[in-house]
Amino acid sequence: MTKFVIVSGGVMSGVGKGVASASIAKILQEYGYSVTLIKIDPYINSDAGTLRPTEHGEVWVTCDGGEIDQDLGTYERFINQAIPKKNSITTGQIYSAVIERERRGDYLGATVQFIPHITNEIVDRIYQAAQDYEIVVIEIGGTVGDYENGAYLYAIKNLCAKSSTQNIVHALVTYLPVPQHTGEMKTKPTQQAVRLLNQEGITPDFILCRSEQPIDDIRRQKIESFARIGLDGIIAAPDVTSVYHVPVNFEQEQLGQKILKTLGLSQKKTPDWQAWQKLADSIIDTSLPKVKIAIVGKYLVSGDFSLTDSYLSVKHALLHAGAHLGVYIDVTWLDAHDFEENSKNLLSSSTTSDLIENLLVEKLKNFDGILIPGGFGAQGVDGKINVITYAREHQVPYLGICYGMQLAVIEYARNLCNLIDAHTTEVVPSTINPVVDILPIQDNLIKTKGYGGTMRLGNYSAQVTANSRVLKLYQAANRAEKLATGEVVVTERHRHRYEINPKYIAQLAQAGLIFSGVHVREDDTKLMEFIELPGHPFFVATQAHPEFNSRLESPAPLFTGFVQAAHEFAIKKLKD
Ligand code: GLN
Repeated sequence: MTKFVIVSGGVMSGVGKGVASASIAKILQEYGYSVTLIKIDPYINSDAGTLRPTEHGEVWVTCDGGEIDQDLGTYERFINQAIPKKNSITTGQIYSAVIERERRGDYLGATVQFIPHITNEIVDRIYQAAQDYEIVVIEIGGTVGDYENGAYLYAIKNLCAKSSTQNIVHALVTYLPVPQHTGEMKTKPTQQAVRLLNQEGITPDFILCRSEQPIDDIRRQKIESFARIGLDGIIAAPDVTSVYHVPVNFEQEQLGQKILKTLGLSQKKTPDWQAWQKLADSIIDTSLPKVKIAIVGKYLVSGDFSLTDSYLSVKHALLHAGAHLGVYIDVTWLDAHDFEENSKNLLSSSTTSDLIENLLVEKLKNFDGILIPGGFGAQGVDGKINVITYAREHQVPYLGICYGMQLAVIEYARNLCNLIDAHTTEVVPSTINPVVDILPIQDNLIKTKGYGGTMRLGNYSAQVTANSRVLKLYQAANRAEKLATGEVVVTERHRHRYEINPKYIAQLAQAGLIFSGVHVREDDTKLMEFIELPGHPFFVATQAHPEFNSRLESPAPLFTGFVQAAHEFAIKKLKD
């Protein structure tokens, strides 16, 4: 029988409930159990695909094509295991499923109500995702006391009714503020969060106390007496420099064994945290050789905030690669607009192209590698293309992801194939040279389905060219698969609409660009998946999103190759 760990939040959101849930799952895995995670998002959207990344963080793409909340990404990075889209539950999905069933007449004339129809739907979905696992960690988005949260807490009680209480553990993640004027850690908001949870008929077994500093004994006792939680259940969760230290910190308080005991389970294996701890330590070890990476993107400024969360997985993929290579990754986020002609940063002399060149050198000369991640729309595109020219001409390691590949192909077409109007129809629909375009096979789809539902989403395999740099990297990581037909394929997740236009492939290849991987559709259309430049220290780009397949214990091959090349570039710079 599956056991459940329910993680809810108190006091405020954004204090690391996702990391706490992922850490619990990782710990239970280390004790030998098969574990998965479910994220419940109480918003009405069906999924996170249409949410603005600057507000909501990155859209995470699952292997089966789900566009999901970024917490699912944290889960995968921790448990080193793919999590399908059914593990993301939103209020929108629940209500549309129930309404659809009502329209079909499935309820046979019954009055369809919040209880039991909505709550049953929640429970059914939890059981569907839980199949095949011994323990499931369920994170409930938002905080207890939110109106939207109530349905889920109620449904969870039904889950309790179906299994014996021994099969469920409740963990409440709270925040203990330290007001500046008193300098004293306050437990009152936590006490109130516990009371709100009690009102839902739930008593937490564990309180994970997020705070700047570890919670001291006095405050543990305060929570114990006011909230009636045993001292054993009060777990310190102080701020950490790297999230990957959280499971190890929890284990210092024997959280894993305490959860197992509450669930009536015993450990199947002795955890071994040595390798994990070493990787987590490397991520924050500034004494390691430093590799300076510039990520040039557009979602970087929202009001006064820099929302680097939009590229969270890209950053983690770099950190994973750095940890495995024993280098310290120093990421700088650069706004693509700063490299455009009308940029306020342009100095007032000489010709525009000279100015851009000076600006590029000035702003990029200190970096060992340049990465352009995925993106949509026209904003910042000119700046990104200028940056790609710089990386190509100055032999700076470059990794292009999705839009970062499309723009690299456009740059190549413009500057090496003399196609000065080369562009993507996403930005200039009437361009004379649509090097990146919607393919005819997609046209119909778009006409019939409209804008939504027309993306290439989730896992697609690519046949990779023998002897290519891309293939060597995937093989070194044991991530290339030889098919019975003899072809070697690699699989990555996708999230995009436009493709490299097949009409230009021969011309681009003739000019020296190597297309080192293609996805072959059933109708035999070939979609370009990887490019690389010979004679360059590292100029590789992919139509896919390899960052979604990077885990602390298993970094993504292209990131490993990129960071390695950037490290070598840094060493060479020092020598020169
Ligand atoms: N905007 C491009 C497309 O839709 C690239 C998308 C991306 O970078 N994820 O094809």
